[in-house]
Amino acid sequence: MIEIKNLHKSYKMGSNSLHVLKGINFEVSEGEMVAIMGSSGSGKSTLLNILGILDEPDEGVYNLNSTLIKNLNEKIAAKYRNKFLGFVFQSFNLINYKSALENVAMPLYYQGVSRTVRIEKALQYLEKVGLADWAGHLPNELSGGQKQRVAIARALASDPKVLLADEPTGALDSTTSYEVMELIQQINDEGKTILIVTHEDDIAHMCKRIVNLKDGIIISDSKVKQVRAKTKRICLV
Ligand code: ADP
Ligand code: MG
Repeated sequence: MIEIKNLHKSYKMGSNSLHVLKGINFEVSEGEMVAIMGSSGSGKSTLLNILGILDEPDEGVYNLNSTLIKNLNEKIAAKYRNKFLGFVFQSFNLINYKSALENVAMPLYYQGVSRTVRIEKALQYLEKVGLADWAGHLPNELSGGQKQRVAIARALASDPKVLLADEPTGALDSTTSYEVMELIQQINDEGKTILIVTHEDDIAHMCKRIVNLKDGIIISDSKVKQVRAKTKRICLV
């Protein structure tokens, strides 16, 4: 599903250059649930942004669903993003003046799906994340956990091959974090490939594999026994 080889990325800052990714190699197969861990500034978001075709590497190979991602113009990049990828961010990134339903329907609009089908599908995904009753509400009428559920429904609406989440629980308390992880685990149980950036150990152990980044290289990459979020959440209450 994902194959990256010898990925390098530097940021230019005036006459200086900051070498952030220094030769990253890894593969992700369909159905995996992978945590990308590392301290702040270790390059996690940089890596995820490259995987999400939001940024380009300086060097290296990236294959996504057997498609070489290289030198794409913005139009093709947007097409691949829409077709292959769903994004979830720490700060939810919902559109404030649009309802939960309209937010979820948005990616379908960009895929040229008709209005009737958009609404039908968006409602179906809101139901999946347990928020059908909140369809007409604006983001500021929802709790943090509910906002992240809407964001997850939006990411799933276009049926992406891979779900990419950058610190999806970073703005949530523990109970709410585990509820969101319970949902993400359920989505992975159904077969979706998921990559989650986190710096929290308990969240990483809710995945099935942990990749550790340090100073721009992978220092460890191993399968782990998945801790079920539901079990952890019940222990909290
Ligand atoms: P993480 O997500 O692990 O905290 P990032 O990938 O966001 O790390 O950042 C890695 C390093 O690159 C940091 O030192 C950060 O300051 C720097 N960086 C990130 N984005 C940019 C950018 N657009 N321009 C310059 N430096 C950047
Ligand atoms: Mg980051």
